Amino acid sequence: MPVPLYEFQCKQCGAKDEVFTRTVQSDPKPPACPNLKSGGEHQMRRIVSMFARHLTVADQLAEAEAKWGKEVDAAMGPEPDVGKYARRYGELAKNLPGPDDL
Ligand SMILES: [Zn+2]
Repeated sequence: MPVPLYEFQCKQCGAKDEVFTRTVQSDPKPPACPNLKSGGEHQMRRIVSMFARHLTVADQLAEAEAKWGKEVDAAMGPEPDVGKYARRYGELAKNLPGPDDL
């Protein structure tokens, strides 16, 4: 499993930092700028890693998910819990009258 990698660059000083996450996040939290101790306000913004761009399909999907995940989720709504429905139908089937009850 590829680990989602998010790369950030400071708007003010250009310092870069990387964030690894366990799961794909549509809105990863930016790290603090490594040069922040020098004072002032440093804002880290997400950049696309040159390496990640050419890695695997999974990475590209992760990137697309990060970019568009929120919009897609909003458009599609929550994914139905198939397992829950399957269990529910299993229960209902058990309560149906069998051939001997008719
Ligand atoms: Zn900075």
